[in-house]
Amino acid sequence: MNMTIPGAHVIDVRTSLPRHKTLKYGRRKPSDIRSAALHHSATKSGSPEAFARYHVGTNGWPGIAYHFVIQKDGTIYWCNDLETISYHVGNSNRHALGICLVGDFRTQQPTAAQLDAANRLIQHLQVQIPTMKQVFGHQEYPGYAWKNCPAFPMGTFRTNYSQFLQKAVGKVDKPKQIPVAISLNGSLLSVTGFLQDGVSMLPVRAVANAAGGKVEWIEQTKDVRVNGMDLNEKVIDGSAYAPARELAAALCLQVEWDGPNKTVKLRGDVKS
Ligand SMILES: [Zn+2]
Repeated sequence: MNMTIPGAHVIDVRTSLPRHKTLKYGRRKPSDIRSAALHHSATKSGSPEAFARYHVGTNGWPGIAYHFVIQKDGTIYWCNDLETISYHVGNSNRHALGICLVGDFRTQQPTAAQLDAANRLIQHLQVQIPTMKQVFGHQEYPGYAWKNCPAFPMGTFRTNYSQFLQKAVGKVDKPKQIPVAISLNGSLLSVTGFLQDGVSMLPVRAVANAAGGKVEWIEQTKDVRVNGMDLNEKVIDGSAYAPARELAAALCLQVEWDGPNKTVKLRGDVKS
């Protein structure tokens, strides 16, 4: 499993952490993983070594409970193989991957660096493990309603994570965008596109609707198709934008760039 995560610092401590002399955790296929489980350490400070010593020495477990520990400075410690069925959410262990943020969030707040690292880690894991569709707090697992862990609001966490994903998919520097007008057979449309690195990007759905094209959203691959053609789209704030030339080709339209007026001119037969 590749654990090189852009913008994050990951340290692999899987072979250096204390382990039980004889007991071993069970193993699973990565495709058995369905959710990431967030925990707090419930200690003001700590380290993977300290948690591992406690889980092995005091609890008598085979090894550290968590797959990842995120330190306050955002450093991610990789503690268990993803295939390891460690103890952290009881009956849900087989299908959950444990991520612990160091801190006692009953009285402290997670740091911005920790939350950013958690977003990057979960995004990376969801690409590597497509079955890991959910992100829950420890408390949200069956039988744990009584447990105040991770002790920060999971609804807020998930909202922020969705926003993080949107930005990551868009990867567009907003200030660099220059708006462009769009005309179809001489009439200006009410929507605009933008210029990015010399390419006009047009809103797929609005333009396709105006031209009578068929838009499909392929959920599995998060791809947009117009009249069956796959586009190199970017999703920004929930809307897909595609290069003018690609979109025009999919809609069987001629495309012309009017530089002085910053307008993309589309022409052709429009089905209505
Ligand atoms: Zn927990």
